[in-house]
Amino acid sequence: MSVDDGHYRPTYNDIHKLIGNSAKKIRDEFKPDLFVAIGGGGFYPARVMRTFCKTPGRKNIPIQAIGLSLYEEMGTEDSTQEKLGKEIVRTQWLDFSTLGKMSLLGRRILIVDEVDDTRTTLAYAISELQQDLEKQLAALPEEKRKTIPKTEFAIFVVHNKLKEKAASLPSDIMYFSGEDLGDVWVDYPWEMLDIDKHEELAAAQKKLRAEQQS
Ligand code: 5GP
Repeated sequence: MSVDDGHYRPTYNDIHKLIGNSAKKIRDEFKPDLFVAIGGGGFYPARVMRTFCKTPGRKNIPIQAIGLSLYEEMGTEDSTQEKLGKEIVRTQWLDFSTLGKMSLLGRRILIVDEVDDTRTTLAYAISELQQDLEKQLAALPEEKRKTIPKTEFAIFVVHNKLKEKAASLPSDIMYFSGEDLGDVWVDYPWEMLDIDKHEELAAAQKKLRAEQQS
C-alpha cells in the first residue's frame, strides 16, 4: 500500500494532542458542563476531551451518547420512487433516565464528533437537540422559564474538512476543530484491525511530508 494514497492517517497520539490543544480554548471560552458524543467516531474524542476538561476537586463532566447514521439512497434514473439526497437516522438518543427530564435547561453542551465532512450529521444533531430543548422549555411555566440561563451549544470535531458543506450550523454556536484539512479521507486508528501497520504507514507519511516540505 502506498503511503501517498490520499488517505490521512493520524495516530492515537496525534489525536490525543489535537484534543488537548483544543481543550484549553474550549475550557476557557466555552466551559462545557455536558458532552454529547456522536457515535461511534465521537466516543473516543469525547472521552479524551473529558480528561483535559477535568477540574481538580470537581466531578467529571458527564458524557451522553447519541447515534446518528447517514444513509444515502440513490434511485435508478428511470425510477419515479427515487430518493436523491441524504437521510439521517437516529440509532441512539440521550438517556433522560440518568440525565433528568429537564436536563438540557441552562446547560453548556459540547457536541463531539471525529470529523466534519459535509456537516449534515452535525446540523442534524443540533437541530434535534434544539427541539428537545424547546419541549423542555415549553413544559415550564413562563415565570420559571425566564429565570433559567440560556442553554448554549458548541461543537468540537477532531478534523474539519475545508470544503463546501451540505448543511449549515446556527451562527451563534461556537465551533472548535482540532485540525483543518483538505477534502481527504481520514483513516482513524480505532477503525483499524492492524494498528501496528497503521502506525507504520502514519510514520512513513509524516516522513514523506517532511521531505516534501524541506
Ligand atoms: P458528515 O458528512 O455528516 O459531516 O459526516 C458523516 C460521517 O461520515 C462522519 O461522522 C464519519 O463517520 C463519516 N466520515 C466522513 N468523512 C470521513 C473520513 O474522512 N474518515 C472517516 N473514517 N469517516 C468519515
